[in-house]
Amino acid sequence: MIIVIKNGCDKKQLDNLTSWIEKQGLRIDRSNGENTQILGLVGDTSKVDVDLIQSLDIVESVKRIQEPYKLANRKFHPEDTIVDVAGHKFGGNNFQIIAGPCSVENEKQIIGIANAVKAAGANILRGGAFKPRTSPYAFQGLGGDGLKLLLKAKEETGMPICTELMAEKYLDLFEDVDIIQIGARNMQNFDLLKTVGKTKKPILLKRGLANTIQEWLMSAEYIMSEGNPNVILCERGIRTFEPYTRNTLDLSAIPLLRDLTHLPVIVDPSHASGIAKLVAPMSLAAVGAGTDGLIIEVHNDPPHALCDGAQSLRPEQFEDLVKKIDVMLPLVNRERK
Ligand code: PEP
Ligand code: MN
Repeated sequence: MIIVIKNGCDKKQLDNLTSWIEKQGLRIDRSNGENTQILGLVGDTSKVDVDLIQSLDIVESVKRIQEPYKLANRKFHPEDTIVDVAGHKFGGNNFQIIAGPCSVENEKQIIGIANAVKAAGANILRGGAFKPRTSPYAFQGLGGDGLKLLLKAKEETGMPICTELMAEKYLDLFEDVDIIQIGARNMQNFDLLKTVGKTKKPILLKRGLANTIQEWLMSAEYIMSEGNPNVILCERGIRTFEPYTRNTLDLSAIPLLRDLTHLPVIVDPSHASGIAKLVAPMSLAAVGAGTDGLIIEVHNDPPHALCDGAQSLRPEQFEDLVKKIDVMLPLVNRERK
């Protein structure tokens, strides 16, 4: 339920209203816009008397929210949420590019790629240390050692880093990680979502392989309901019957989400397609669809990459793509800062 408060209302009356609501066991999420103040009620509002609230002097309107996601709902929070990652902002008219290898392989590799993607214009470095692989016999990532190398690359380049957390037991290692990625396979690992919800870190929440937009927003709701509002959604393709591509990039999710939620949404064209040649066209299509950013896999030697080489761009291909993105950004009213 949302309550829109009249402009310039009496503060005492507003305090009375909010304490009355809280006494009913409900939480209030406040959203202060330029001209409006909205109280979003979280919890079981079925017994709340709408007519009574509507009759108050200070109340402009009261509306029940039908969707099961509340904190993530655009109706709760009409203005875009801006997620700040070490000064790089996601949301509003900002545009961010996260780039780097699928996995951290060794020091030379991660530092070399970090320098290359930075020079090409990426703002944030990606690289998996803990890898969710389909086969238990495949390279599982360097784990804690990989994270140390990623932190070294951060120190050398000054780039914030984004990397995947697969289990709560590793959280302590993530203290200096700037964006915690929750991978597609863990989108509905509710305990993990609650764990990252208790941190204040920006969370990159990837869409599950076979999850609906509503299920995805409910996962964001899990994180937000624990107190962490810093959620960035990432469309990374979904399973369909089409075998030519690794997944099918659901670009319609971008403009749809713009209405449904105030959270920033980025696109991962690498996992969505699985094919390096498709990464540039899908990136540009995503920019056209209004994405707030991209996360792109880049490798110095794709044929020998330990993971996801087939979908990785070489640094020079990435550089060429960034130039094209920059040509498009003014058309969609975005700026890369
Ligand atoms: C990744 O980013 O390397 C990854 C494993 O992504 P996803 O969870 O989207 O498959
Ligand atoms: Mn990958």
